[in-house]
Amino acid sequence: MTRRPGFPARLPGGPVPPAQPARKAPAAVAAPRAAVPSGLGLDSHAVRARMVEKIAAQGVADARVLAAMNAVERHRFVDSALVNQAYEDTSLPIGLGQTISKPSVVARMIELLLAAPAGAGGRLGRVLEVGTGCGYQAAVLSQVAFEVYTIERLRGLHERARENLRPFRLRNVHLLFGDGMAGFAQGAPYAGIIAAAGGEAVPPAWTDQLADGGRIVAPMVMPQGRQALVVIEKSAGRLARTILEGVHFVPLKSGIA
Ligand code: SAH
Repeated sequence: MTRRPGFPARLPGGPVPPAQPARKAPAAVAAPRAAVPSGLGLDSHAVRARMVEKIAAQGVADARVLAAMNAVERHRFVDSALVNQAYEDTSLPIGLGQTISKPSVVARMIELLLAAPAGAGGRLGRVLEVGTGCGYQAAVLSQVAFEVYTIERLRGLHERARENLRPFRLRNVHLLFGDGMAGFAQGAPYAGIIAAAGGEAVPPAWTDQLADGGRIVAPMVMPQGRQALVVIEKSAGRLARTILEGVHFVPLKSGIA
């Protein structure tokens, strides 16, 4: 796996940050004003606040999640032609046949991740995201975790995410290019692992790399062929699996391209 961080990263070779490092707040997520894309007007605060209200109305109650969704400017992660739809509750194309996930689903999955014992301290320690895509969810995760490792298997999207995230200067987001089915052992153990692509099963590397008290939240293809959200929690070395509502994610694929 090639590591191509666009941000100061400490791995491999450097010291691995502890599971619960010092209480240092990450950088703010609003990018400089000058970079506001045309077409949305100068201020996206109101429209984003409305998006967050709708997410709360759908049942997401964790204040940490709502604050993170409110903080990240989603319109910066979509194509300029789609900027006007950036705050609708819909997935949108991001190129190479992939999509940015629906905001309500991003919020729901991060809420499930934070509900683990590992999230009880307020912020998660290290989190692994499989499927960086455009980088949006990584930016949201950067608000609720101390360190975010995010892997993408398509080089074009890995590069795009780096461009998208650059103005936010999120020092706790580490962009990796590679096959996320193998996880990222150098960053393990993770307090949370979140997947934005669904496979037939949860790869063993993910459960191996999960910390005790941590959770995996991932879409998974069920025997009937439809995807559902799956939560796997590790406790005293044992895994407990819960299958939740149906979802629609792009497929989890092996290898890089
Ligand atoms: N979190 C992203 C969603 C991107 S869609 C966002 O906020 O935009 C899911 C992504 O998972 C796609 O970009 C796809 O290429 C990627 N993916 C699929 N299988 C993968 C794998 N094995 N390793 C890494 N990325 C993978």
